[in-house]
This record gives sequence, C-alpha cells and structure tokens, in this order.
Amino acid sequence: MPVIRAADRTTKQGAAETFSGTVFQDEVVVGTAPSRMRASVVSFTPGARTAWHAHPVGQTLYCLSGVGRICFEGEKPQVLNPGDTVVIPPNVQHWHGAAPDRLFAHLAMSENSDSGAGTSWGKHVTDVEYKQPV
Ligand code: MN
Repeated sequence: MPVIRAADRTTKQGAAETFSGTVFQDEVVVGTAPSRMRASVVSFTPGARTAWHAHPVGQTLYCLSGVGRICFEGEKPQVLNPGDTVVIPPNVQHWHGAAPDRLFAHLAMSENSDSGAGTSWGKHVTDVEYKQPV
C-alpha cells in the first residue's frame, strides 16, 4: 500500500460531460479517511479545457509542462507555464486547460468537503469564452 505502482494503474480519458476536447487523467492518490487528499495529473491536448466548475474546499494546480490557461469568472484567461502554482479559492467558478496550440499538463490537488461533496460542474466553456485574449 505505501507504494502504489504505476504499472497497476491506467490512464483514463476525461468525460465529455466535464471537458471539451481530449483530456487524459492519471490518478496520483485518493486518500483514505481521515485524509481527504485527492491528486491527479491532467494532460490536455491543444484547445482542450474543463467545463466551468467550482471546488467546495478549493483546488491547487501545479503546472508541469506545456502552456496552459486558467480563467476565473468575470476575468480574462491567464497564461500558465511550468512551475506556476494556481491557488483556487473555495466555490469560485473557473476553468482550466491547454493553450489553443500547445499541450499542457498540471497536477491537480483538492479535497472533498466535510460532507463529502466534490467538484460542482457547470456548462462547457464556449469557443468565444475560451478564445478571449489573455
Ligand atoms: Mn478546477
């Protein structure tokens, strides 16, 4: 148990309900109680992004490779580069993904709420929203 072997896990494709474009997810850890830690590496192909969503206890993104985007509701998208950390407050609507012409990967870290609630998903990010100048 202390070492979860890479060979024992497979890459999953992001669900069409919660992502636009092709996205791959590699689980890092889903903690067992009392831990509520959840972490995964998410790899976005160019132009791919999450739908609008919010996290009950917030989320931290650590950018691993490529060029990405983060956008908070009411703001312009921002560029993300490897080594950047994004601290997303609880219950703030946002989306994240790749730049239009670049691959992007981040480590996503979050926790469920006291009541066990996870990510709250909304509408897909339209092309107009996605293509706003950064
Ligand atoms: Mn998020």
